[in-house]
Amino acid sequence: MTVVGVDLGGTNLRVAAVEGGAIVRRQRIVLGEARGVDAVVAAIAELVAEVAGDAAVVPVGVGVAAMLADRRGTVVNAPNLGWRDVAFGAALAARLGARHPLGVYNDVNAIAFGELGAGAGRGARDLLAVFVGTGIGAGVIASGALVEGASNCAGELGHVKVAAGGGAARCGCGADGCVEAYAGGAALQARIRRELAAGASPAVLALAGAVDAAHPGHVDALADDDPWARALWDECGAYLALAIGNALTILNSDRLVLGGGVLGRAPRLRARLVAGLPAVAPAAIMRPLTIVDAALGDDAGLIGAALLAGAGVSLI
Ligand SMILES: [Zn+2]
Repeated sequence: MTVVGVDLGGTNLRVAAVEGGAIVRRQRIVLGEARGVDAVVAAIAELVAEVAGDAAVVPVGVGVAAMLADRRGTVVNAPNLGWRDVAFGAALAARLGARHPLGVYNDVNAIAFGELGAGAGRGARDLLAVFVGTGIGAGVIASGALVEGASNCAGELGHVKVAAGGGAARCGCGADGCVEAYAGGAALQARIRRELAAGASPAVLALAGAVDAAHPGHVDALADDDPWARALWDECGAYLALAIGNALTILNSDRLVLGGGVLGRAPRLRARLVAGLPAVAPAAIMRPLTIVDAALGDDAGLIGAALLAGAGVSLI
């Protein structure tokens, strides 16, 4: 059976035909200025036609970097695309027609399902996948099924609170105290540059070369030696452990999949996160848990969206 996965990010539109959990054909275009919903729907339809092959029915799953409103692909907010309150799923379903049953999924949910089916989550039954990149996202699998939630927003781990009251950091979502406001890549990088500019660590600044070039990888490189870097990573690792450990305590997952650009370039931050989990989640929660790194890279979302549609999850 051929299924098609679509990864709709902010810069690239990628489409792939998936058979048996593996990509057999793929196409990619760079989204230019034409990123209104009509132009994107037309571009997806064109690429789907190129890769779909000749089967009578080819389901299509789309992973989109967006907060969704429902299981019909209504986008509340997709910052990278500039979309707000857009009936994307309905428009794409009308365009694709009956030959392509359509599902629209949050991108991190699609990634989590991809890792479950074909990557680091294979064999797991209850899986939590956490990605720390520019923001922080998660996908939840319970008893082998994706947890979508009442309005398709389950797994918004970045907006779990790790601080409350006056002085809690302001998040991009408008709320205060979200873990993403402390340990998401955008917040981290802004704080690193602000504190380096104020003289926090000559050693990290020397490694980065300039304040404007500093990123979490520079802090990570010196996080065992430089006092400021060590303290910053201890703090951020504890915040990540708090959010993830609390989620694990609710979910009792057997697999934790970690990924994303920040954790990828900051192994010492990852180590602090993992070391902090037992202080947050009870021993009975930690005992069955295996912690692994995401394995599929950029293809996870493509494969996961295809597998979800192929499994008939929330078809429109
Ligand atoms: Zn938030």
